[in-house]
Formats: sequence, structure tokens, C-alpha cells
Amino acid sequence: MKYCRFELNKEAKYGLVESVAGQDVITRVLLTTPYQTDEELEDLPSKKINSLPFASAVLLAPVQPSKIVCVGRNYREHAAELGNEVPTEPLIFFKPPSSILAPGKNIRRPRASERVEHEGELGVIIGKTCHNLSDDVDVRPYILGYTCVNDVTARDLQNKDKQWTRAKGFDTFCPVGLVVVQELDPWAGVAVETRVNGELRQQGNTKDFIFALDVVIRYISRVMTLLPGDLIATGTPQGVGPIVAKDVVEVTVEGIGTLSNPVVNEAE
Ligand code: MG
Repeated sequence: MKYCRFELNKEAKYGLVESVAGQDVITRVLLTTPYQTDEELEDLPSKKINSLPFASAVLLAPVQPSKIVCVGRNYREHAAELGNEVPTEPLIFFKPPSSILAPGKNIRRPRASERVEHEGELGVIIGKTCHNLSDDVDVRPYILGYTCVNDVTARDLQNKDKQWTRAKGFDTFCPVGLVVVQELDPWAGVAVETRVNGELRQQGNTKDFIFALDVVIRYISRVMTLLPGDLIATGTPQGVGPIVAKDVVEVTVEGIGTLSNPVVNEAE
């Protein structure tokens, strides 16, 4: 099952996305928020609509998290490219929910930064409250689904500030979408790629995570309670680099699709 969030008659709705005759279409709208329930997605109350081709829908970010928890340096080669040691335990930080950006909308380079970079990542959406998970607990029932995230970063400010709130936290610095997909197995490995203007810049696979997804979720749950709808950005592969106005950044996660956002300068 997969779903999106989109505009229908000027209202934000969650819509089920199905393949009909080889084309993705939105067939139903959910009558509840998909993650504030114990029901399976297919069992949620929904209403049939006139099928809307997914490609022509006005998409919104498919998550509304209470927090965005990110993992830093979760791929060996990426840790090395920024001159960092491979961490011995997960390194976590926040992005504010206000940084979320819908598919297709503009990433704004703030005037305060001279070097803004892309970080394509697998995003994980929490489906059930989880707190203090022990090592023998299966984390999969706590996961609602997966999406693409761009952990946009003002690299110069990240290096200058002692902590990363500013570098990671500007409005528009968290593009997310297009859809949330349930059938994905990051443990088995899914490809994560980032392109700028069509050119491949980052290429990784989640099977190369330093800390597997279950380790990450347990670790975070021992620090803070993860709530339904919370978003985890799982770390970026090597190949991060600058983006400038007029660039188009695409994050592609195998089995999910491609999240595309243009870049503009703040003044524009
Ligand atoms: Mg990152």
C-alpha cells in the first residue's frame, strides 16, 4: 500500500495511490490520519473519489511529524568525506517540523549561508508510539512506512556553529515525499540516489548503514518517545555537495520514487 497527501477542492487530504492499467492514480481519500490509529492502512475508513492521475495531483508533504529525528554519519564513506571518524553509537539531531517542504516546491538558500548542500536519505515514518524499546523488540510494527527525504544542510554554518540547529533548520530544508510506501525492506537493502540537474551525485544502499534501522529506532526510543507520524531521516551516502539557484535536486529511493525540488535564493 502507498499513500500521498494532496489538495482536493482546496483541502489537504490523504489519498491512497494505486496502479490502474500501469498508471498511478489516487482512488480513495482517507477519512482519518493514517498514523494515529492501530488499524492497517487498507482497513482505514476511506471514501472513493473520481480517480485522479497521480501525476496531475497537487502534492503536499505526506507527513506532519511532531519531530524530525536525523541520523548523522550512518554511511562509512560519507563520514570519511567530511573528515569524520566512523561513530561508535548513532549520532542524532533534529530538524524542526517547520523545515518540511512539499514535493516540487522551492528549496530556499538563506542569505546567512554561502554553502548549502543536498543530502538524499531514506525517511521512516513512525506508526505507533514507541518508548524505551528493548533489544528483543521487533521494531517493524512501529513503522508505518517509508519515503524520500532531502536533509538540506548549510554546511558552512554546520562547521561554524557548535551544534547544528541553524545549519539543518532553515525553512524549506526538509523536502519530503512523494509518497509513503509500506512494502519496503531497508534491512535487505534499497538504493538511495541523489541527482542534481540530472547528474548522479550520491549513490548508496541502506544495507550499508553503519547502524541498522532497528538499532537506530531503539536508540532514539531510549532518549525520547517517538509519536505516530514522527519522521526519521536515516543518514546520507557519500557524495554530498553544494546546490545553487536554478538547480533541481532529485532524491530517489528504490521502491518509493523520486522527490524533486528546485533551488532558489532567499530573496527570490
Ligand atoms: Mg543527513
